[in-house]
Amino acid sequence: MTNKEVELIYEKILNLGIKKENLIKGEPMKNHTSFRIGGPADIFIVCENEKELSRILSFVQNENIKHLLIGNGSNLLFKDSGYDGIIIKLAGDFEKIEKRGEDEIYAGSAALLSKVSNFASINSLSGMEFASGIPGSLGGAIFMNAGAYGGEMKDVICEVDIMSKDGKNIRKVSGEDMGFSYRHSAVEGSNDIVISALLKLIPSEANIIKSKIDELGESRRSKQPTNLPSAGSFFKRPQNGYAAALIEEAGLKGYSVGGASVSEKHSGFVVNNGGASYFDVIELMNHVQEEVNKKFGIMLEPEVRIID
Ligand SMILES: Cc1cc2nc3c(=O)[nH]c(=O)nc-3n(C[C@H](O)[C@H](O)[C@H](O)COP(=O)(O)OP(=O)(O)OC[C@H]3O[C@@H](n4cnc5c(N)ncnc54)[C@H](O)[C@@H]3O)c2cc1C
Repeated sequence: MTNKEVELIYEKILNLGIKKENLIKGEPMKNHTSFRIGGPADIFIVCENEKELSRILSFVQNENIKHLLIGNGSNLLFKDSGYDGIIIKLAGDFEKIEKRGEDEIYAGSAALLSKVSNFASINSLSGMEFASGIPGSLGGAIFMNAGAYGGEMKDVICEVDIMSKDGKNIRKVSGEDMGFSYRHSAVEGSNDIVISALLKLIPSEANIIKSKIDELGESRRSKQPTNLPSAGSFFKRPQNGYAAALIEEAGLKGYSVGGASVSEKHSGFVVNNGGASYFDVIELMNHVQEEVNKKFGIMLEPEVRIID
């Protein structure tokens, strides 16, 4: 957008009733991604409730403005030039987590998985332990059916509340109708927004759940480069084998381009050693794909979402 367009749209969004402190021009996306990469978004909106979200979606749809809703930014790679449009991030009401009935948790899509998992543990409900170390939001995790240690969102989702991409309606979709498969849900590609979800868990003992969370956290810290910025496993698991094993066997462990490297600790991770650019990561990704394809005839697909 030109500066003039940004000013005009900014004023229009203020008139929708969005608080001034929740509306930022030129916000660097590296401040909102676990990769710590990404230039400024033309306009960054923090949206606190369903009414605001509905108004914003309807506005961007009517005005045909490029936009993207982000969760906790843990699976995203933005360009150094930034995002030419509007970024929407949910907060406020969307962060709530509540117990429902004997064995259910209702949570907003901006609730962090670590918090939902901890809340379940305190309430003696088992099933979310697998997600405790995934640094995403509930909405982002449902969007791509996040999973780890044999569990995935598909196992715990009972019902999802989804707002249509034009902000006009909210529908309830059962877990079975979410089209969940490996790192995929029906929301992907639809531009609809997950606003909240009901999780069905299993009553258990709080101390057993807590020990499992601690054990999985320990395993993660010992095997993954959790001390460096990354977006988790960079590539999807191919049909035969594991991306990390193929990358390692192709001799690419530690391979670097600029500030980006294939992690020495876990070859499935691409890490930012400090100052990595979008292009460093893309060049590294291309090289890894080429080498693995040459050696094994397998084309690795990025799991990380590369934002245009
Ligand atoms: C150190 C590390 C470890 C990781 N480990 C794992 C792991 O074990 N397993 C795993 O599956 N992933 C893992 N990840 C990747 C990441 O955490 C997950 O993909 C997570 O689900 C992304 O959630 P997010 O809220 O950060 O989404 P974002 O990265 O912000 O967004 C991802 C996509 O979801 C969409 N989206 C986000 N919120 C919504 C919503 N409310 N409605 C509709 N669309 C939405 C966005 O538009 C975007 O396209 C890891 C990442 C890191 C950095």
